[in-house]
Amino acid sequence: MTPLAIELVPCLSDNYAYLVHDKDTGLCAVVDPSEAPPVKKALAAKGWKLTHILNTHHHFDHTGGNVALKEEFGAEIVGPGKDRDRFAGLDTGVDESTGWSFGGRKVRVMEIPAHTSSHIAFIVDDAAFTGDTLFAMGCGRLFEGTPAVMWSSLSKLMTLPDATRIFCGHEYTQSNGQHVGNAAGSFAGSYVDTTSAPPSKPTQAQLAAEAVKAAAHYGDYSTSAAYIVALPHGIVPSGFGTQYCAYHSSTAAAGHTIAWTNDPYLPDVGSSCGAGSVNSPGTLDGVSIVFGHEQGETETDPQPNSGWLDSSGAENGDKCAWTNLENNPNAGGYPTQPLWSNANNGCVQSY
Ligand SMILES: [Zn+2]
Ligand SMILES: [Zn+2]
Repeated sequence: MTPLAIELVPCLSDNYAYLVHDKDTGLCAVVDPSEAPPVKKALAAKGWKLTHILNTHHHFDHTGGNVALKEEFGAEIVGPGKDRDRFAGLDTGVDESTGWSFGGRKVRVMEIPAHTSSHIAFIVDDAAFTGDTLFAMGCGRLFEGTPAVMWSSLSKLMTLPDATRIFCGHEYTQSNGQHVGNAAGSFAGSYVDTTSAPPSKPTQAQLAAEAVKAAAHYGDYSTSAAYIVALPHGIVPSGFGTQYCAYHSSTAAAGHTIAWTNDPYLPDVGSSCGAGSVNSPGTLDGVSIVFGHEQGETETDPQPNSGWLDSSGAENGDKCAWTNLENNPNAGGYPTQPLWSNANNGCVQSY
């Protein structure tokens, strides 16, 4: 079998339709035609004749060209059978149990609800047409499903082989790829727990419990809140200065999962956690270097390891730890380590 030819057709302001051509049978499908004119133009340029229209979901920016193209070419419209009422002129309803076939090729239909309740993906050979469920560096809006439903749909897509090529419904790469900024007002406040003296060697469970107390104090269990447990001088949790300088983690709290960070009193361990690494004597050098590292990672991977990790499992700060330390004018002149930048494909002190 000759491999399918797939032609990208930009439509509207940021939509993508795709022509899928099977040279062996002469069949040609268009996936999610937002509008007819650019699709007709692409067909004419290729000399292909449209035989099928495939829709991942009913939204008008994916079906707007259906009727005109069906009229002109007599093409068969194939879409989610469970959503028949919301499709004008649907000829063939498909779902996971029916699948579909295109010429002699088996087309897998995957039900991936959340953007809409009956959103589907078409998977043929190594190509997956994911509509408005999966984009480059992002997923679609949850119009008709909860985050849990979207997660289950994305998890289904993750079962596809790594070599699968994803053809998505919109060009959102640039906006999805915007870097995390240091939002003004991101520091909500501080709270001193005076209810009892801290243990001299707190365990991770005790530190997590302290973060839970802070979350109760602020009443914010949302995923955009992060709690930093800053330990006073002389309190040295096990492993501090020998195995780590600080770390961030997450824990269950009141039915939620909160992000928290263990920031011990760094000057207590001196140069092993950065003292004097940039300035002399630089007693506090490690404070901005290490805590900046943790903040960067807490923002990009608040509930380890569910956020940004590289292919070997390293978090953002780990990739650049203890390299190119400098007094950073973008950080108030305090010393910092660089953080990883996808855009620069390297470690950067500013972006
Ligand atoms: Zn949509
Ligand atoms: Zn769309």
